[in-house]
Amino acid sequence: MEKSRQAGKTKVVIVGGVAGGASCAARLRRLDENAEIVMVEKGPYVSYANCGLPYHVGGVIEKESSLMVATSDTFRRQFAIDVRTACEAIRISPESKTIELRDVASGEVSSESYDKLVLSPGALSVRPPLPGIDLPGIFQVRTVPDARAIREWIERGSMFLGGMDKYSGFQTVRPKTRAVVIGGGFIGLETAENLVHRGFDVTLVEMLDQVLAPLDLDMARIVEGYVERHGIRLALNDGVAGFQQAGDGALEVLTKSGKTHPADIVILALGVRPDTALAKTAGLEIGQRGGIRVDEQMRTSEPDIFAVGDVVEVRDFVTSEWSLIALAGPANRQGRIAADVIAGRESRYRGTQGTSIIGLFGAAAAWVGVGEKTLKRLGDSDYEKIYLYPNSHAGYYPGARPIAMKVLFRKSDGRLLGAQALGEDGVDKRVSALAMALQMGATIYDLEEAELCYAPQFGSAKDPVNFAGMVAADILRGDMPSAHWDGSAAGFLLDVREATELAVESVSGAVNIPLGQIRARLGELPRDREIQVICRSGQRAYYATRVLLQNGFKARTIAGGMLSRFHTRLLED
Ligand SMILES: Cc1cc2nc3c(=O)[nH]c(=O)nc-3n(C[C@H](O)[C@H](O)[C@H](O)COP(=O)(O)OP(=O)(O)OC[C@H]3O[C@@H](n4cnc5c(N)ncnc54)[C@H](O)[C@@H]3O)c2cc1C
Repeated sequence: MEKSRQAGKTKVVIVGGVAGGASCAARLRRLDENAEIVMVEKGPYVSYANCGLPYHVGGVIEKESSLMVATSDTFRRQFAIDVRTACEAIRISPESKTIELRDVASGEVSSESYDKLVLSPGALSVRPPLPGIDLPGIFQVRTVPDARAIREWIERGSMFLGGMDKYSGFQTVRPKTRAVVIGGGFIGLETAENLVHRGFDVTLVEMLDQVLAPLDLDMARIVEGYVERHGIRLALNDGVAGFQQAGDGALEVLTKSGKTHPADIVILALGVRPDTALAKTAGLEIGQRGGIRVDEQMRTSEPDIFAVGDVVEVRDFVTSEWSLIALAGPANRQGRIAADVIAGRESRYRGTQGTSIIGLFGAAAAWVGVGEKTLKRLGDSDYEKIYLYPNSHAGYYPGARPIAMKVLFRKSDGRLLGAQALGEDGVDKRVSALAMALQMGATIYDLEEAELCYAPQFGSAKDPVNFAGMVAADILRGDMPSAHWDGSAAGFLLDVREATELAVESVSGAVNIPLGQIRARLGELPRDREIQVICRSGQRAYYATRVLLQNGFKARTIAGGMLSRFHTRLLED
């Protein structure tokens, strides 16, 4: 039976009741008291915090109810929204502006009319048809029921394993439970960390040569070193080939390279893909990346149908390429923009910067904009990069920790293109500040001038963001010509560190003159060759470069010094 529109009221049907859908529904009500708003969600809950699921698995968020940001009842009472859970949208007919809904419990199908339709069905976890993928003990982390099933499995498994030492005559140590996580993206790494906290012996299998694909390899290596030191065993460069039951009731994960990883639990975190099944019933345009194509106002190829969140393709803010971004911030903002546009406002989505952060064992890795990998893929050579390792706050105040930063900017005009940062303190605010700067089209000269909060426990008078601007501007102004280890570091190598530092690690062929002696020993340096200057982080090398340049030498600083050469050793205690 079709439920039709009420005269004079705009009827908006929203599919998907979590990030994009729920924010669209609430915003629309705030803008239009008269709209008739129906929000359908095929799952049992609306507006839950899927970002918290790995932490619920790990017991950091103990109560499932803490994940419920707002309930169906909240939406009904506070926003007068007709919320229907366990209700799946199965077909759209744009000609008649109707949508078919199926009651998940009864299977009954009804038809609903709409004036405007908003699709926010999210993404589906990638689940390739590998042998054994449906065996018990293999899970994904996508929904509240997924997390519940993992917790129940762990609790049952612990009881079983805990009881073994009671009846085993020679076994005195309770066996450590083994987890294999497949996929080194956000969800895989977050879940792996949480399983380590729960006492699991964790192996993470990743097909690529690195974790966290958006990071450049050099920065990913720091993350890898850090998580390995905290107990995650990484098996990179190896795809999963299948799963099988082992003799002892446990599982075995088989990889393409022929390895077998035993497991008591397996977590699949192979990434996501846009859930476009419903969109296809309406014939909506789907882009090359597999998401629904939308314009800046989140309108699909059907003008009365909007789409937001993980299901859409949006323009990358820096490259203007179409991209898929599965992040909660963009989904929420897009939901709000769709509501604005439906209510007659002119809001527009600015494109996606991919601003991201992941917490791991007390550290954080964050990034924004493009990485060097993307620039190389696009054949873009109008960029320069810097590495710097400032303290998170004034070094004299207790608790300061280094932040490893890589910042990319245009050689031609200094425009900020992207940044990646890792550290145990203060990473989030630096990357958030850089994200804002990037969206405002800032240059590295703007970063030099940014006026940021400072007291010794929070930052430095020259904040890492200012510092990044200053180092980058030194390069573009010609005050600090730079070179990199990846190829261009090949002139006369001058190491300006102290002899004690060289005893720990040295560069073969480099001549050592400590910074304090450089002015007195200029005569030992060549005037007919370029001198490339090395120190620990790049700072003393810069000072030495200035001395050399002002004395008529050709000199360059090797960006990031020894720290950028041996990335994996960063953040070591
Ligand atoms: C474990 C996990 C951790 C995450 N952590 C972070 C994080 O830390 N930071 C971050 O920025 N992002 C994170 N994300 C990603 C973020 O949650 C998503 O980008 C965001 O939720 C996308 O919003 P959405 O509205 O597009 O989809 P969702 O929030 O996934 O909502 C889509 C909803 O639509 C429903 N639906 C689908 N099809 C239909 C249909 N036909 N009929 C009715 N209902 C339907 C689904 O059941 C689902 O509930 C995480 C995601 C997961 C799974």
